[in-house]
Amino acid sequence: MRLRETVALLDRVGTVDGRFYRQLTDASSTEELVTRWATALEEIPATLPDGSWDVSRVVRDYYECRRGDNSAQYRSIEPHDILRAWARHCDARMQRHTDPIPAADPDDLPAFLAELRTTRTAVATGRAAPVEHRALTGGSNPDIEARLRAIGTCIPPHTRTELARFRPVRAVREAAVVAGQPDPLSVRCDWCQAPEGRPCRSRRVRPDGSVRSNAPRATPHPSRVDLATAQHGREAAA
Ligand SMILES: [Zn+2]
Repeated sequence: MRLRETVALLDRVGTVDGRFYRQLTDASSTEELVTRWATALEEIPATLPDGSWDVSRVVRDYYECRRGDNSAQYRSIEPHDILRAWARHCDARMQRHTDPIPAADPDDLPAFLAELRTTRTAVATGRAAPVEHRALTGGSNPDIEARLRAIGTCIPPHTRTELARFRPVRAVREAAVVAGQPDPLSVRCDWCQAPEGRPCRSRRVRPDGSVRSNAPRATPHPSRVDLATAQHGREAAA
C-alpha cells in the first residue's frame, strides 16, 4: 500500500471508530501512527484488479464483527488484523489454484521450479488470477450438460455404435428409446417368460417337449413389443 492509501485507510478507521484518534495526543504520535501502519502494510495491496480484495472491506468486516471475531468491542483495528485477513485471502486463492504446466523444459529443473514458484507467488499475492481447472469438470458447464442430456450417458455416440455389436440386446433397447418407441424390455415377455429388464430367450425344444437350450435373443419376441406398445399407449393416455 502506498502512503496515500494508508492515510486514507486510517481516515476510514477514524470515521467508524471514535477511540482511534483519541489515542493520538500530538502531531508526533500522528506521524508515528502513520509510519507504523505504512511499514506494516507495505507489502499488501489496497485492492486487487479482480475485485476479490479491498483493504477497506477488511476494516468494515472488522467493525461489523464478521467471522465471529468480536475484537472490535475491546480495541481498535490494528495492522496485524489486516495482515491476518490478507494471509487468509492468499490461502483461499491458492486453494482455488491448480498449477498449470510450466512452459520451461522439465529437464531444466531449476528453470522449471522457478517458473512454478513465480506463478504461485503471483497468484498468492494477487498479481495473477488462480487457474481453476476444476471449474471445467465441476458439472456447471451448460454445453457439457446439454450433451449429456441429449445422449443420456457419458459414452459418446460413436463409441456406443462401436459397442453395439458386443451388446446387441442393449443396442436394440436403446435404438427403440431413441426412435421414441416403447422399450420392449420394460415388460415381461408372455411368450418366453423373460422377466422385466431381461432379454427374450430362444427356447429350443426336443421332440418330447423338454427344453434343449435357452439362448438370449438380440431382438425381443413380437408379442412382447406389442405388449410394451400397448402399455406405453396407456401411460401416454393417462
Ligand atoms: Zn420373449
